[in-house]
Amino acid sequence: MKRRDVVALCGLTIAGLPTASSTEAGETLKEAKRLDRTLVIGAGLSGLAAAQKLTAAGHDVVVLEGRDRIGGRIWTSTRWPELPLDLGASWIHGVKGNPLTSLADRIQSKRIATSYDSAIVYDVNGDPLGEDAEESLEEIREHLLERLKKAQDNDKDVSVLSVAEKLLADLDDDDPKTERYFNFVLSGNIEQEYAGSAEELSAYWYDSAKHYPGNDALFASGFHEITKHLSDGLKIETSQEVQEIHWQETPIRVVTKKQEFTADRVIVTLPLGVLKAGSVRFVPPLPEKKQKAIATLGMGVLNKCYLRFPEVFWPNNVDWLEYIAEEHGEWTEWVSFARTMGQPVLLGFNAGTRGREIEVLTDEEIVESAMQTLRILYGDDIPEPTDFQITRWASDPFARGSYSFCSLGSTPQMRRELAHPLDGKLFFAGEATNVDYYGTADGACQSGLRVADEVLRG
Ligand SMILES: Cc1cc2nc3c(=O)[nH]c(=O)nc-3n(C[C@H](O)[C@H](O)[C@H](O)COP(=O)(O)OP(=O)(O)OC[C@H]3O[C@@H](n4cnc5c(N)ncnc54)[C@H](O)[C@@H]3O)c2cc1C
Repeated sequence: MKRRDVVALCGLTIAGLPTASSTEAGETLKEAKRLDRTLVIGAGLSGLAAAQKLTAAGHDVVVLEGRDRIGGRIWTSTRWPELPLDLGASWIHGVKGNPLTSLADRIQSKRIATSYDSAIVYDVNGDPLGEDAEESLEEIREHLLERLKKAQDNDKDVSVLSVAEKLLADLDDDDPKTERYFNFVLSGNIEQEYAGSAEELSAYWYDSAKHYPGNDALFASGFHEITKHLSDGLKIETSQEVQEIHWQETPIRVVTKKQEFTADRVIVTLPLGVLKAGSVRFVPPLPEKKQKAIATLGMGVLNKCYLRFPEVFWPNNVDWLEYIAEEHGEWTEWVSFARTMGQPVLLGFNAGTRGREIEVLTDEEIVESAMQTLRILYGDDIPEPTDFQITRWASDPFARGSYSFCSLGSTPQMRRELAHPLDGKLFFAGEATNVDYYGTADGACQSGLRVADEVLRG
């Protein structure tokens, strides 16, 4: 298949990716640039989007990927053939105007809309919340979000938790229920979304990301349909774990565990968590501003635990099951796959500190802990799961977390510092470099297109 056919196939008319006709117009450019080689480090969404755009413009691009698979934090497990499971990103958040929607439309990928309004909230004893309790919970939620908004006008930034604690103290209400509701809102509304814990999240910036309007949508056959499609026709070397980048040498030298590669320029799409861990050595070290951005921006954790049961024993007409736990963040949020996929499968989440802590438990301990909560909600007679799939994103050496968040002390400018190219030959992409749409799959994709444009501008 010819390159331009591949590009046409990829339907890359979205958000600045070239079309087949624009590729044709770029033939001369192609000739001029053919000798230039760009190495893209990382075959996640950002790396694949960048590589597609550059390859289409005639650049010689090789993608080096440390894992034995592509996709990075897009990772669809096919272990249960009747239900492909997304262990990383699941949703297109806000389908209207989202570049991933256009991409999914072009490959006719089936999607299923879900809604946060399709939910049942259970109280600590396992009973669904009554009307009065729902009203009190809503009041607390509104009150807290309002206080957080006000805190954004203060002279000094503080953590989301300290705003919540101050509000709780001001309410002077020693009913334990009130504190539980606070913890539920912090965990369910804030920590599960941003993946940082309330004590780490900046009150100034925690909600600074933009959102596309519309419902959220799941991929019926898994998010990997998008990454497979974007990898079409690219030169990708998997199991090439990069260890060193000698970025001021000419050509640039990239050392992996197996061999050395050289290139005229390198695009780094390493996750923020990997940059923080320092497992890839930059020679010379990165400039101070970039190092400060890496150290200060937060890398959050959101872990998933899928449980498969012999039958559905929970209400099968809602998408979300929420639990006001005794302990902050303990199995607060669940997704049911009964309505959307017709499967007796539940997905439980743990985020922030709790998400990190759970990783040291064995699989059996995690399942038992989840089951304890489900027994509170649905009784001691519920069946044991027949199988499970569990993630540990913080311990994953190729991710070191789930996605970035705005930690106390960080600023949006730090994402710009992270994205800033060096000497016209070392470039940076990845979700954490996106000021407006960080933490998301669409943000990663856009950052790949942005970096390709920077390279093309020379
Ligand atoms: C549990 C979870 C749930 C999420 N849910 C959603 C969601 O519902 N919707 C949404 O929009 N977003 C979601 N996200 C976020 C989304 O998945 C990410 O923002 C996006 O996939 C990041 O893409 P990226 O290209 O920036 O990074 P990555 O996909 O991480 O790509 C970086 C690549 O670099 C590779 N790499 C790392 N180290 C090395 C090395 N030393 N040498 C070579 N290669 C290396 C990695 O293996 C990886 O393939 C979720 C993420 C997680 C983990």
